[in-house]
Amino acid sequence: MRERESPTITGIGVSPGRIVGPVVLMPAPIAEPAISDRIAVGVDRATSAQRITTASAQVRDELTSAAAHASGKSRELLEATAMMAADPLLVTDARRRVLENGLAPARAIWDAAGQVCDDLTAVGGVVAERTRDVRDVRDRLVAAVTGQASPGVPRPLEPSVLVATDLAPADAATLDPAKFLAVVTESGGPISHTAIIARALGIPAVLGAVGAMGAVVEGSIVLVDGGRGTMRRDPPAELIASLAAATRPARTFDGYGHTADGVHIALVANVVDAASAVVAAEAKAEGVGLFRTEVGFLGREEAPSVAEQVEAYRGVFAAFPGRMVVIRTLDAGGDKSLPFLGLPVTSNPALAPRGWRAATQLPTVVDDQLDAIARAARHESADVWVMAPMVATPQAAAEFVARCELHGLHRAGVVIEVPSAALRARQVFAHAAFASIGTNDLAQYAMAADRLDASLADLCDPWQPAVLALIAAACAGATHADRPVGVCGEAAAIPALAPVLVGLGVTSLSMTPRALADVAAVLATTTAADCARLADLALDAPDARAARERVRSAIPALPDLGL
Ligand code: PEP
Ligand code: MG
Repeated sequence: MRERESPTITGIGVSPGRIVGPVVLMPAPIAEPAISDRIAVGVDRATSAQRITTASAQVRDELTSAAAHASGKSRELLEATAMMAADPLLVTDARRRVLENGLAPARAIWDAAGQVCDDLTAVGGVVAERTRDVRDVRDRLVAAVTGQASPGVPRPLEPSVLVATDLAPADAATLDPAKFLAVVTESGGPISHTAIIARALGIPAVLGAVGAMGAVVEGSIVLVDGGRGTMRRDPPAELIASLAAATRPARTFDGYGHTADGVHIALVANVVDAASAVVAAEAKAEGVGLFRTEVGFLGREEAPSVAEQVEAYRGVFAAFPGRMVVIRTLDAGGDKSLPFLGLPVTSNPALAPRGWRAATQLPTVVDDQLDAIARAARHESADVWVMAPMVATPQAAAEFVARCELHGLHRAGVVIEVPSAALRARQVFAHAAFASIGTNDLAQYAMAADRLDASLADLCDPWQPAVLALIAAACAGATHADRPVGVCGEAAAIPALAPVLVGLGVTSLSMTPRALADVAAVLATTTAADCARLADLALDAPDARAARERVRSAIPALPDLGL
C-alpha cells in the first residue's frame, strides 16, 4: 500500500551524487537481555547450552567468510574476531551458566562476555583494547541465539545502499565506498559528523530522511539523490537509463587556487588519516587545512599510545612533503565519542566540556598528543601547524599556544567556532599565529540550532547573515594582526559561497578533496573586488535563502559551470 502511495522519501542531501542500487538495512543494536532471563520450565538445559555452541560455530563461519572477502587490516580484524567467537573460554563459561544456573543462552553469553571484559580490563594496555571486540562477538552470539540480524554495519555481497535509523560517526568512518553506493538515515543533519565523513568518502548521502526504514525492505531497489536529498523506491527504467547518460564529466583542480585577478587563495583539504591524505594529495590539494585527529580514534576504549599517534600523524604529513598541514588536537565531545577520555555524560554535549575545554581537564592526553605531533613533524618535511578546537576566549588561546611552545611547536593557532572567539578575534590573534573558522559549529552556536537536528537545518546554515557577520569579525581580527585565517567547515566546500568568504577576508579554504575543482572554478571567474561585492550582498540579505539567491544570481559564470 505504502509502496504505491509514497515511493519517494525526502531528507537533506548532504553528499551529492545520484545512484541506483539495492538496499541493505542497518540492523537495530542488540539490547542487553533481562537479568532474570532464564530457561523456561520444562526446557532441557543441555539443549539450551548446545544453542550456544551452534551459535559460536555460526558466527565464526560468518566472520571467516567475511574475512575471505576482505583485505589488509580489516581482514586481520575479521579473522581475529572469528577466533574470538569460537574462544573455548567464552563458550564454555556461557554453557556452564546455562547448565549450572539455568540462565537463558542470551543472558549466559552476556554474563560470560562481561567476565572476559573484566579480565581484559584488569590487564590494561593493548589487552584492554580487546574488550571492544569481545562485545562485538557477544552481540553477534546473542543475535544468533535469539534469531536477530547480526549487529553493526552489514557486509553486503554486492554494492548497496545502506539505510539506517541512525549511523554513528564511528560506523560511518568504517564504510567502504566500494561496498556502499549511498547512505540514507532517518536522523542527522547536514553538518553532523556522519555527513562530513560521507562527503569525505565521496558516498552520496541523504540524512534526516524520516520514514526511510519503513519505506523499503532488504533488497528494494532505490534511486538516491544525495544532492536533492531524496530516496525513490523502484525507480522507472527510463530514469535509471537517463541517470547513466547524465553523469557530469569530472572537473579537475590544477593545484593552485586564485581569483580571476590572480590573488592566491590556498585551496587545501580536510583529512582524517593517511589514506584520506593520499587522496587529497592526488586531488592536488595545496596542503591540509584540517586534520581531524579524533576520527582515527573514535569508539576506542583506550588512549592511543604516543608511538601509535606518531605513526598516524606521520602518515598524513608524508603525503604533503614541504606543504602546510594544519593538524587539530582532539575534538572529543558533541557527537564524537572518545570513551577513553572518560568524559562525563551530560545533558547537553554540545555545550559541555568539548575540544580544548575537555582537553584542559586531561593534561596527559594533551601533552601526549602534542609530543606525538612534534615527533612526527621532526621526521617529515611537512610544514606543520597545530590548532585547538573549541577555543572560546583569548585566555584559552594563550594557554594553548604556550602549551605548544613547550613541545617546540611554534605555529599554533585556534579554530574559531564559538561566537565569542569571533567577536574577540583581535585579542585571540594577539596569541594565535593563525586561525581556521569552523563554520559548522559557528553556525550551530550562533543560531542556537543543533547541527545534528535535520529540522533546524535552515537555521544551522553558513549562509545565515549572522554567521557571515561573525566570519567577517574573525577576519577583521586576523587582518588587524596580519595573520592568515582560513575556513575549514563545510561552508568552504560550497562553490557559490567561496567568493563570499574570500570577500570577507578569508585567505584559505579547506574542504573535502572532491570539492576542490568546483570551488577553484568559481574563484577563477571572480576578481577580488567581485568577492568583496558579493560578501556585502550576502551580509545585507535578510536571511540565508536570500543571501544564497542574491549571490548565486550575481555570479554569471555559475550556470555555465553547472554548479
Ligand atoms: C567546524 O565546526 O566547522 C569544524 C570544522 O569542526 P567539526 O566539524 O569537526 O566540528
Ligand atoms: Mg567544530
